[in-house]
Amino acid sequence: MKKTIRDFDLNNKKVIIRVDFNVPIKNQMITDDTRIKESLDTINYAINNNAKVILMSHLGRIKTKEDEIKNDLQIVSERLSKLLNKEIIFINATRGIELEKAINDLKCGDVLLMQNTRYEDLIDQKESSNDLRLGKYWASLGDIYINDAFGTSHRAHASNVGIATYLPSGIGFLIEKELKYLQPIINNPKRPFVVILGGSKVSDKIGVIKNLVNKADYILIGGGMAYTFLKASQINIGKSLVDEENIDFCKYVLENYADKIILPIDTVNVEKIEDSAATRQCFINEIKENEIGIDIGYNTLKLFKTYLEQSKTVIWNGPVGIFEIDSFSKGTRGLCEILKNISAVKIIGGGDTASAVINLGYKDCFDHISTGGGASLELLEGKKLPGIEVIEENEN
Ligand code: AMP
Repeated sequence: MKKTIRDFDLNNKKVIIRVDFNVPIKNQMITDDTRIKESLDTINYAINNNAKVILMSHLGRIKTKEDEIKNDLQIVSERLSKLLNKEIIFINATRGIELEKAINDLKCGDVLLMQNTRYEDLIDQKESSNDLRLGKYWASLGDIYINDAFGTSHRAHASNVGIATYLPSGIGFLIEKELKYLQPIINNPKRPFVVILGGSKVSDKIGVIKNLVNKADYILIGGGMAYTFLKASQINIGKSLVDEENIDFCKYVLENYADKIILPIDTVNVEKIEDSAATRQCFINEIKENEIGIDIGYNTLKLFKTYLEQSKTVIWNGPVGIFEIDSFSKGTRGLCEILKNISAVKIIGGGDTASAVINLGYKDCFDHISTGGGASLELLEGKKLPGIEVIEENEN
């Protein structure tokens, strides 16, 4: 077990919290502040326990001076101030006298937000390459380090691994919740354990399939990646998405785990991917040469339901159709409806699936929606996340 923020006496301590404020911004407006809201529990806990709070986050990628203008955290500081109903001391610097003085002047309960950690990437990628001197310098600004940025914990950066190497460290409430739901899946899931995989490419999910095929009772496959599996089982898939390089991998999985891999039995097709395209549903062996499969069909949903109804744990990663187009989202929506009515522990593995279920209005039907697409995928692949590994163990 990792130490958490609760394991420290925060009173009068300078507490660096690495949060994930990497929010989408359009026309200088934050279009979705979920990530800021998700960090509030940890920040409020630190405030209420008399800490001097120093927040660090990245925003976007920084390669040029223009990127710096686009990814200025000032706008986030304003939103955070509204959400906390509290003044935020925003420092437009990632190092230097102004930052150091502002930190030394902090009073208990104050909150300071430093400029985007990736401004340090402009020269030699210092943040993203975990420059040792940068990590040590940032660590010198605080007394305790708390990592609550799950979405970046699969990367070793100066603002996570770097700082944690030099300070007493723990995780925040957000990472604690991620681990609470994701770790049992990897170690000891309640069975039957069913994995739903979709999305576009097989290549992105190879690691997950390799790791979970031995742990899961069933893997239900939909989305674009299903057509590569279907092609590997000699089915004509017309012009559907295919990941040629991974056909052999799919064949291997189908041959060795035939009883675990459940493929679609029908499909919804179009001739062109566009909003107004006419759709045609057919059985899987009836796809025409000029058709593209864009969703799972009604019979596949019924088939998937038989597995899901018995399940005790379900994790879903990857939409089963091109859900961004309303008339192609029936499979993904139908799956949400099925999951809504079953009593298993239901987890969404982040990324596109998270936006799909939230946009379709099913957010509350899941026990946990992971905040880190890449990080949760790597956990499910059985990998260790460096930003979490580096955190001290709780010996008690
Ligand atoms: P991923 O990031 O790999 O999870 O892929 C998510 C994307 O897969 C979404 O943008 C979906 O539109 C896309 N997707 C789902 N089903 C299909 C399909 N049948 N053909 C092409 N793309 C698909």
